[in-house]
Amino acid sequence: MLRQYELVDLVKSYDPNADEDALNKAYVFAMKKHGAQLRTSGDPYYSHPVEVAGILTKFKLDSTSIVAGLLHDTVEDTDTSIDEIKKLFGDQVAQIVDGLTKLAMIEQKSANNKQAENFRKLLLAMSEDIRVLLIKLADRLHNMRTLHFCAADKRSRIAKETLDIYAPLAERIGMQAVKTELEEIAFRELHKDAYDSIKARLSFLREQGSNLVPQIISQLEKDMAENGIKADISGREKSPYSIWRKMQQKNASFEQLSDIMAFRIIVDDVAACYQALGVVHSKYHMVPRRFKDYISTPKPNGYKSIHTGIIGPENTRVEIQIRTHEMHEVNEKGVAAHWAYKQGERVVGKNFRWIRELLEILEQASNPEEFLENTKLEMYNDQVFCFTPKGDLIGLPINSTPVDFAYAVHSSVGDTCVGAKINGEIRPLRTMLQNGDQVEILTSKAQHPSPEWDRFVITGKAKAAIRRYVRAHKRDQFITLGQQLLERTFKGESLDFNEKAMVNILPNFEAESIDDIYAKVGEGLVTAWDVLKAVYPGYKQSKIGKVVKSFISKSPRKDKSKSEPLKIKGLVPGMAVHFAGCCHPLPGDRIVGIVTTGKGVAVHTIDCKLLEKFASEPERWLDISWGDAIDDAPHVGRLKLMLANEPGSLGDLSNLVARNNGNICNLNIVNRTVSYFELLVDVEVKDLKHLTDIIAALKASKVVSYVSRSMQ
Ligand code: MN
Repeated sequence: MLRQYELVDLVKSYDPNADEDALNKAYVFAMKKHGAQLRTSGDPYYSHPVEVAGILTKFKLDSTSIVAGLLHDTVEDTDTSIDEIKKLFGDQVAQIVDGLTKLAMIEQKSANNKQAENFRKLLLAMSEDIRVLLIKLADRLHNMRTLHFCAADKRSRIAKETLDIYAPLAERIGMQAVKTELEEIAFRELHKDAYDSIKARLSFLREQGSNLVPQIISQLEKDMAENGIKADISGREKSPYSIWRKMQQKNASFEQLSDIMAFRIIVDDVAACYQALGVVHSKYHMVPRRFKDYISTPKPNGYKSIHTGIIGPENTRVEIQIRTHEMHEVNEKGVAAHWAYKQGERVVGKNFRWIRELLEILEQASNPEEFLENTKLEMYNDQVFCFTPKGDLIGLPINSTPVDFAYAVHSSVGDTCVGAKINGEIRPLRTMLQNGDQVEILTSKAQHPSPEWDRFVITGKAKAAIRRYVRAHKRDQFITLGQQLLERTFKGESLDFNEKAMVNILPNFEAESIDDIYAKVGEGLVTAWDVLKAVYPGYKQSKIGKVVKSFISKSPRKDKSKSEPLKIKGLVPGMAVHFAGCCHPLPGDRIVGIVTTGKGVAVHTIDCKLLEKFASEPERWLDISWGDAIDDAPHVGRLKLMLANEPGSLGDLSNLVARNNGNICNLNIVNRTVSYFELLVDVEVKDLKHLTDIIAALKASKVVSYVSRSMQ
């Protein structure tokens, strides 16, 4: 294990301005906090964060990262709080440790790795600061290095997860060295037999061929020197995992694999790369289709190198990689290397410069598919990933709600959704989901998509399903209404109403079916009178017909009694009038009057749900509107509220309403949980605008998590 001063010296060796105090403090803090905890290896637990910090120094990361690496398990595994970290080590370290703690929690939630790709995206999206991801990878690397101490079943699960999730992540951000090491250890764990046999064959070849690697290296060194090219040359057998992968991909046996050795020629600049390539190709036979120029066309993760396959020295097929020192550094360390080069203008907080850097590289890439695949990286910032109760991951656009989630699971779940539990607590359907939320959708067969949902859902799938339902449903209503209106109109004129007559007039209304005519009448596109006249051309309109027509055509009523200032226009003077308690109409709302039996006219808002009841009785509808002179008598508006269940929150609410000149006249707690109240609140206001102002003020308040006008 690295000692305290060794770690500090390591960091200072590449960053002379490193925060020595913070490093010392974090080292001691981690040691104290993990105290007597032990690893399965029997080592003290704190050796793990120290080793993780050691790995991070290999990436030459800044002292903030090293400090966060030392502290990465303290919040999850000890009694340490994020506040404590913040106080002692500052905001940035605290944010990174917080990110790592959340990642650890997410890992526990994930029941399966079936959706490895989504899980990788989730990890990327959660790692708002790239350093979170780098520390996570270092953490995983050390856990893999010490994997053999774990119990067998745990070992293979961790190894599989590493292969599915972390190795590809390391590759995605260009950290070749980390990716290779993770894969090797996981491969050894998961396919012990294959690993052993490849190892055995490699050593057999080595003995037989009297170790070709050094011979080929010295030959290549001679070749370069003769042509005046300064080059560092290294060679190795390919790793067992990459040999195994190749055997799988090509469905080949070990013997059929020709190039199991790879050599690197590392030179000073790009020009020298192509000179070296020229030397290699002029001296040795090239193997067809093995040449790739990733310098002119880098890989999406920024990897740059020239690859070529040749029949090399000693008549052996080998792979040669040619690159500059700088390219090599970036290829091995990926984002971390970019980081090291950019000292002084580091990526901080939510600044995604590293992604932009990657994108700049990508923009030079010629393959548009590759480019698209990788711009997704940036798009993860616009997505949230949530778990089903079974641990499946659902990716959604940011600001998505449980309804979006429900439709993403299955449209039948969306259609029947009545409520949602987020992380075990019932929350409103319009709650915005956060990364890592576990969402359970409550369904009921009696439920149908609600037009209200259309106001807050985000995904196209949910919107389309809701609109499709509402449209179909509305059409049904229009058809019923239209048919009733027609029957009423015909009956009112003592004329025979039959469907046969309707068939004949379909073309008059560009209708394809009788239902089309009904729907048009119901929707008010065509009046019942128009239909009647089409069936009985030349028929003269009677009185009742006029009443129906005036409603259906929705023509505004002419108010002839302008002399009398009325609160509401369109009423016969002296008629009793009251405001409906269902929808609480306010001056400014579009309103309709319904003639009630014995109680005069009830005023409803135009979108009041109760109006459906009167759809079949058009003669009871009055077209009314608010008058210009509105008295100061208060009107009651009803609000639906979600309020934090905290001491004083109800007081805050009434203060806020009062400060905006409103007056709470009734309050009803609909639902109450540990964390919130759901309330219906009646507020006396002047008009709609007044109510809207109060809603805006409430929205800005910290204790109010949701507020809208209630029309029920
Ligand atoms: Mn750890």
